[in-house]
Amino acid sequence: MKASQLPLGTEKEDPRDAQVVSHSRLSRSGFIKKQSSGFYTFMPLGYMVHRKIEEIIRQKMMQYGAIELHLPVLTPDSLWEQSGRWQKMGPEMMRVQDRHGNFFALAPTHEEAITFLAQQILKSYKSLPINLFQIGNKYRDEIRPRYGLIRGREFVMKDAYSFHIDDASLHETYEKMRNCYRDIFQECGLETIAVEADSGNMGGAGSEEFMVASTIGEETLLLCEDQVTCGYKSNQEKTAYISETTKNDNNGQPVEKVATPGQTTISQVSAFLNSGVENFIKAVIYETESEIAICFIPGNRDLSDVKLKNLVTGLELSLASEEVVKKVTSAEPGYAGPVSLPVMNNQKLKIDKSDKPIVKTVKIFVDQSLEGRKNLVSGANETGFHLKNINEGKDFTACPGVDLVIAGGNDLCPSCKKHRLSETRGIEVGHIFKLGKKYTEALKVEVLGSDGRPHVPTMGCYGIGVGRTLATVVEQNHDEYGIIWPESLSPYKYHLIGLFKKEEEKQPIDDLYEEMLKAGLSVYYDDRNERPGVKFNDADLVGMPWQIIAGKNYVQSGNIELKNRRSQEKTEINREQFLHQFK
Ligand code: ATP
Ligand code: MG
Repeated sequence: MKASQLPLGTEKEDPRDAQVVSHSRLSRSGFIKKQSSGFYTFMPLGYMVHRKIEEIIRQKMMQYGAIELHLPVLTPDSLWEQSGRWQKMGPEMMRVQDRHGNFFALAPTHEEAITFLAQQILKSYKSLPINLFQIGNKYRDEIRPRYGLIRGREFVMKDAYSFHIDDASLHETYEKMRNCYRDIFQECGLETIAVEADSGNMGGAGSEEFMVASTIGEETLLLCEDQVTCGYKSNQEKTAYISETTKNDNNGQPVEKVATPGQTTISQVSAFLNSGVENFIKAVIYETESEIAICFIPGNRDLSDVKLKNLVTGLELSLASEEVVKKVTSAEPGYAGPVSLPVMNNQKLKIDKSDKPIVKTVKIFVDQSLEGRKNLVSGANETGFHLKNINEGKDFTACPGVDLVIAGGNDLCPSCKKHRLSETRGIEVGHIFKLGKKYTEALKVEVLGSDGRPHVPTMGCYGIGVGRTLATVVEQNHDEYGIIWPESLSPYKYHLIGLFKKEEEKQPIDDLYEEMLKAGLSVYYDDRNERPGVKFNDADLVGMPWQIIAGKNYVQSGNIELKNRRSQEKTEINREQFLHQFK
């Protein structure tokens, strides 16, 4: 392709909203153009890269046994009503109405649509397992679309959904998809880290995210410092917290009630009583539409709302209102504690909202890391008072298996329990997930088993963001001059830079281009009548892996200059040799 047919469209300035390298480089190289917030046009060269990624994904998915199809982007509300997600998706899901007043979602994901299809086409265990994938547009009205292609409102996702007669079969496909993802990202020239991820309230340990380590990543990853023998890697949301506070077997000192007027935060009471925050119990009270969760954790740690969400029922989790706090503690906010709470676990409470009262169930969670702790301080469930010397096992009881604490860097690795965790940031490019029967049950899918009885199939789902993958490749492969494409993704392998002043000097370079095409080389030819500096800068900016510089020297000697974009190394090579040796 010649620049005179397909102009580069490079820009001198970064877009005003560019905060990250990939957004700036992809815009300046003319690969993408913003239409409006979160919506981008892929310009011809950018679209070539996008299609190469799609093709790598397509080939690998097929190699690992998945079958491609295409589902409509508009999905009727009835499907989402069945799964309960028409409400749950909230404002992130974009909705449209047809001329008859029917509602549709612009699909942010396709679990409902594929499960509906499964209900139509899957009849017997003999058609399982099946793994169906598509590569197509998704729409999400993200609160904060940003970082260019990394968080858009329209983006292309490869999404795959598998159906199985049992968990063993799901596990087999899940493992295949993990290997498939490893191959895909490797072929895209991306270094990824597969980490354990939170799988919501669907249970099981079946969810992994593929992360690209990056300072701009929105995810926090915790990796065991010993990656040789232990190798633990996890999303912070999922990482179990291992307490290292020594447990004390004695009974501790007797409980003492102390006046703490006006002292409502742990740091205030800690200063007031001259006792470290690690000796405190932090109380955090949340509510959902149907539950009130009273949580107690060590005073020097933070509560993970992701972990809490997995323990409660209800869609919306928010901090409890003052009214609710007063009702469950008989005190002003700031004085809650696990000893002599005026409410009990599973107690039903009537909450008076202005128009109609609602009943919510109280859930009390005492973090397991408080087990065996003595002489702690907490609120007394009485305004203006705290309790000193409260002891787990005697005055209150920890809940085994309840882990509500956010783990962090330097905590003990929950896998080997020997080494420390280290913290890094990551961008999620892919996600594999054992979904279970949530959707097949909701949409009433049944297949006939080998026992002649109906069975609800279990599901897996597997996503990769194509645009986000493209952007993270740029995050990992660039320098001060521009992008450095891996050969597998570059729009063209060679960028021929023709240097000439007069038209007659151009002819031999045009001939070279024609010969390169004949030899089957993938080449982009900058045949513009521009200054060399402009051409060199543009070639570095758009980042094709090899630059071929052909000017006066070439015309005289027949030697071209071959420059490696990554190493910037230049070698001179005879034209014939080049055409024969390089492909
Ligand atoms: P995030 O936590 O970043 O919002 P997610 O958990 O919502 O991601 P999934 O629903 O698992 O993402 O979607 C699968 C893949 O789609 C992600 O791994 C990511 O590569 C891509 N993706 C998700 N949201 C966006 C977006 N707004 N823009 C571009 N790609 C996205
Ligand atoms: Mg999201």
